[in-house]
Amino acid sequence: MKIGFIGLGNMGSGMALNLVKAKHDVHIYDLNKDIVDGLTKKGCIGCSDIINTVKDRDVIITMLPEGSHVREVYLGLSGIIENSNKKTLLIDCSTIDIESIKTVGIKANQYNMNIIDAPVSGGVVGADNGTLTFMVGGNEESFNLALPILNNMGKKVVHAGDLGSGLAAKICNNMILGITMIALSESFTMAKKLGLDQNKFFEISSKATGMSWAMLNHLPVADIIETAAANKGFKPGFAASMMVKDLSLAQASAASVNLNTPIGSLALDMYKDFVKQGNGDLDYTAIIKLIEDN
Ligand code: NAD
Repeated sequence: MKIGFIGLGNMGSGMALNLVKAKHDVHIYDLNKDIVDGLTKKGCIGCSDIINTVKDRDVIITMLPEGSHVREVYLGLSGIIENSNKKTLLIDCSTIDIESIKTVGIKANQYNMNIIDAPVSGGVVGADNGTLTFMVGGNEESFNLALPILNNMGKKVVHAGDLGSGLAAKICNNMILGITMIALSESFTMAKKLGLDQNKFFEISSKATGMSWAMLNHLPVADIIETAAANKGFKPGFAASMMVKDLSLAQASAASVNLNTPIGSLALDMYKDFVKQGNGDLDYTAIIKLIEDN
């Protein structure tokens, strides 16, 4: 298939390379030209603007930081919808606010274009290894069209409901992750201060009721599990500033349905404090420093 891919950062790069591996023609564009040049050497087809990236493609995928970027890239006169073939399937994988994808959806509907939101879980490792989980919102027809492409980049694809439902699932899921990381940080710090060996505590808790995905994959303590950012001085991975974004999306979503989520709100305040101290580019698991230094 002929694919256009916009937004080749930490996540998008690996995803695009997995599409190349699956023998698609992958036309790419990013504001950062060095990224485009690097991926062109690995089999992608570099483009210098959005119009050339999206013209006459079967599928367009976007993986961008925020809702404002997604609205800009899809809706402008030099944007995706104006300049693509109207049979092109649109797939936005960014983690953004539900309102933004619905706004883009309204314009796509005016041209009868198929569109889905397909945010992901699994991080940079999942993007590189093609083991992401996709949470998809959109109609049945769009979902079925997208499925083979998403399967090239992930190991699990779930149809959550109408457009915006993938994001609803992603935002709720990441509220669990953000809160869980603080619980892990408090518990492992307390275990240490109580004189427990942290390896021993991991051995016990990872087989007991305290176990979680975050503990097994993103432990905020170094040299216990292989995949911890703590092993590499908290190099991201998933940056703390991104967690602030996701927990802010969660609070906005909760407010939109008149729901109080006090622990989610407290978690957001803690990550915000941490980022304000200059730690936004560290992995989110470095939140343990806030607790250790307290
Ligand atoms: P990133 O900042 O590394 O990459 C985003 C890329 O988009 C950058 O290369 C940037 O230059 C490009 N970009 C921004 N505006 C653009 C525009 N107008 N035109 C073209 N390119 C543009 O971010 P990331 O870590 O790859 O995350 C991307 C999305 O995936 C975010 O919404 C994030 O929340 C989500 N996500 C990230 C992770 C993770 O572990 N990093 C995990 C799951 C979901």
